[in-house]
Amino acid sequence: MAKNGVFAMALQQLDSAAKRLKVDESWLTVLRHPERELTVSCPVEMDDGSIHVFTGHRVQHSSARGPCKGGIRFHPSVTLDEVKALSMWMTWKCAVVKIPYGGAKGGIQVDVTKLSTPEIRRLTRRYTAAIMPIIGPRRDIPAPDVNTNSETMGWIMDTVSMLQGSTVLDIVTGKAIDLGGSLGRREATGRGVMFNTLELLKRLDKTALETTVAVQGFGNVGSVSADLLQKQGCKIVAVSDLSGAYYNPDGLPISEMIDYCLKSPNHYLQGFDSGGISRISNKELLELDVDVLVPAALEKQITEDNVENIRARAIVEGANGPTTPDAEKILVGKGKYVVPDILANSGGVVVSYFEWVQSIQAFFWDEDAVNRNLERVMIESFADVWNLAQKKKVDLRNAAMMIAVDRVANALAERGIFP
Ligand code: NAD
Repeated sequence: MAKNGVFAMALQQLDSAAKRLKVDESWLTVLRHPERELTVSCPVEMDDGSIHVFTGHRVQHSSARGPCKGGIRFHPSVTLDEVKALSMWMTWKCAVVKIPYGGAKGGIQVDVTKLSTPEIRRLTRRYTAAIMPIIGPRRDIPAPDVNTNSETMGWIMDTVSMLQGSTVLDIVTGKAIDLGGSLGRREATGRGVMFNTLELLKRLDKTALETTVAVQGFGNVGSVSADLLQKQGCKIVAVSDLSGAYYNPDGLPISEMIDYCLKSPNHYLQGFDSGGISRISNKELLELDVDVLVPAALEKQITEDNVENIRARAIVEGANGPTTPDAEKILVGKGKYVVPDILANSGGVVVSYFEWVQSIQAFFWDEDAVNRNLERVMIESFADVWNLAQKKKVDLRNAAMMIAVDRVANALAERGIFP
């Protein structure tokens, strides 16, 4: 599905929450506009000696509550429109879980499967140098997103450090442990999805053992969500990636599938086999009769085109923006629950915040401390959203957005308009 209009979708969600909150029109106008948008051209010398120019973006939506924070995505469909939407969602995400950050996002339009590792490294370094005037440990701190990981973060951190002349640990989060990364960061987004799912199940008087789950996307977020939910007792009946979907009504061997991906080309599930698995399409996965569906791939997966076929009782948004507002209205109208992205996948940015705090203090926590603090933040944030939804008789997204927009609008009002 075309990516055009993702920012319009983010604005629609903002307007809906602002209307309910009766946010002052002037502050709403400010919030509708990202603070800063930078587009850069990144010439890269390819392995064959030719030069290819890639386009990248970094958008800072709001720094009202603190330094901007958000991942960097490498994907062929990256556009400025998409990066703007993702940066706005980061602002709400940081606000809903009460961490002192604003929102940003970055991306490069590139198909990484067509580049060698040295080419990706040169592209990352050139993009870093190009956005360096606007990032910094107190200004804007990047992190991993689709097709970027701890290795990419290491290159960004090294590029900034080389250009600055000293080692700057707190310029990015999601780094390798030996580079000042936080224990538990790699699993944090999936762990947050797991906590949100368990909190929802509690409210629905359902146990993990009687819950079936389908997960779309088997990258960082999808694979860890599937693994941790299975360890809690849920039955993971289907998972998918770009190679297709894998289904077993008796449950899938998630740990084995993760090990398989680590060794397979492009880390795909392609070719995985074990007893009882049938291959289905990604479309069929989304439409399975399960208790919980975790979309953990890209935006706009549940739309007006397929919403009538969605049979899951609850959707926990591991990805950013997988459900369009029109589709969500229909789901909610049928009594289904959608745990919104800004809450459901916020575990990553919460532990990114812990990593930043640890890097600044040069004092590192053990994994148990990271996970306990994450659990506390997730349980409290879920309760805030659930309780407001009950009180105001709104769906979970509107409740989460109302909490977030209120916090950001209050911060703006406290600061006032410069000059
Ligand atoms: P990733 O690159 O590690 O994994 C993406 C997965 O989705 C891959 O398995 C890929 O094959 C699969 N995929 C892509 N298109 C697909 C399709 N059409 N159908 C099925 N599978 C498809 O990325 P990630 O970091 O896991 O991010 C996934 C989503 O979660 C994104 O929306 C991202 O913005 C969001 N998110 C990520 C983090 C994080 O910490 N990594 C935090 C919050 C939100």
